[in-house]
Amino acid sequence: MTSDEGTNIAKEWEPVIGLEIHAQLRTRTKLFCACETSFGHPPNVHTCPVCLGLPGALPVMNAEALRLAVLASVALECTVHEESVFARKNYFYPDSPKGYQLSQYDRPLATGGRLVIDVGEGPRTIGVTRLHIEEDAGKTVHGRGHGSLVDLNRAGTPLAEVVSEPELRSPAEARAYMKAMCELFVFIGANDGNLEQGSLRCDANVSLRRRGESRFGTRVELKNINSFRFVEEALELEIGRQIMLLERGEPVRRQTRGYNADRRETYLLRDKEVEEEYRYFPCPDLPPLVVDASYIEVSRRGLPELPAKKRIRYVAEFGLSESAAGVLTGHPNIAAMFEAAAGLGASAIKVANFIQGEVLRDAVVCGAELKLPITAAQTAELVTLVEEGAISGKQAKAVYAAMRDTDQSPRALVASLGLAVMSDRASLEALAATLVKNNERQAAQYRGGKTGLFGFFVGQLMKMTGGSAEPTLARAVLEQALRTSGSGEDQQ
Ligand code: ADP
Ligand code: MG
Ligand code: ZN
Repeated sequence: MTSDEGTNIAKEWEPVIGLEIHAQLRTRTKLFCACETSFGHPPNVHTCPVCLGLPGALPVMNAEALRLAVLASVALECTVHEESVFARKNYFYPDSPKGYQLSQYDRPLATGGRLVIDVGEGPRTIGVTRLHIEEDAGKTVHGRGHGSLVDLNRAGTPLAEVVSEPELRSPAEARAYMKAMCELFVFIGANDGNLEQGSLRCDANVSLRRRGESRFGTRVELKNINSFRFVEEALELEIGRQIMLLERGEPVRRQTRGYNADRRETYLLRDKEVEEEYRYFPCPDLPPLVVDASYIEVSRRGLPELPAKKRIRYVAEFGLSESAAGVLTGHPNIAAMFEAAAGLGASAIKVANFIQGEVLRDAVVCGAELKLPITAAQTAELVTLVEEGAISGKQAKAVYAAMRDTDQSPRALVASLGLAVMSDRASLEALAATLVKNNERQAAQYRGGKTGLFGFFVGQLMKMTGGSAEPTLARAVLEQALRTSGSGEDQQ
């Protein structure tokens, strides 16, 4: 098969994708007990009779987890149900000591929402089927000593599971959806955004159908993907695998598969031809979860401006490009810093360029926070200094380097580093005259028509002034010096 034929075959098949995203809710304690939620601590230090599933221990719902889940639900424009129910999802696995997972099943917290994505072809709205609250499992650690070990620090950590409609149509859309979901959760303070630590993971469901066909094909579920890049890669590979089967006339089997990023392949975890039987039933230890209408209304009013809306506003109000608006709304701290700096009177576009070009390179993500190396006030003042012509763009970089992680003001640094732009005509004229005199041979060639040498003179003058000569003035002064320098000679 040539690659052209391959592409044509791929075009005949339409991917249908739906994601189930698990976002850890950013609470101090677990969903049903007072144990700390944690990462990277010694195994099994954050456990108690409740999250160990010891007989007689009773769960008590975490109010902060509920607040965050409701906030996420209204941010996703879901209908929040005043009454929802926790069920026991029964299964045996070593990382789930109770023998069941507490989750919401047929009566979830919220249903019927949406999230807007954009993969560069204009905005597209993806339906959110439901958002429910559930507890995370612990971790099974393999390959350390004999057998496997179990760490239950994570068992009982609150999760919001958000299920999308099967409306995504490409791996790129799935990636954009996962990223937009993560940004939304981080913006409202419901998730810490640490994908490397497993704070937000997804199961990606994918099937194929011939274009024009309305029925869905058999889907495969790719389990537990923890990066935007991996969800795109895994789906591309899985789609390729399914196309190959279908083109050979073989059926796609209903399977759960994993993704091995190193080997760049999906692999079989379990065949699901037979539906799993979890024997869900309402948990007798927990009363129905009740949130009244006023609670939901307070939550809705407490929503901050969300990234999608900010993006539109940045383009309309500040004239930023779509891509700049996308970068600056990628994290609430970046957006806040940009808005504050632009609010201090500096040019918004120049602030945006400076943040993207310099500041973000030094941004440090520590835990839930993103730490920026300079403040909004420092950014605004520095950008203004360049706008005023007090320093050059190049000098601004030097000021920035000295200012990083200090509370020094750019103006003070310009003075102490001796960096002000040289825009004094008389001094520049004197320097230009010396320069031309010391390079008489090149000056003569320039006058003889080798105009390309002008760049050489500009470079030399910049060197003499330590890069501080005001560029337009420097060129004007040099042009004049070169023009007049030969006149005496020529007359001889
Ligand atoms: P389950 O109960 O097995 O988890 P759901 O009905 O909850 O199944 O669907 C899980 C996810 O799979 C949802 O995101 C949904 O959009 C997606 N999905 C359902 N059917 C298909 C299909 N045929 N192809 C791709 N994705 C699908
Ligand atoms: Mg499901
Ligand atoms: Zn506990």
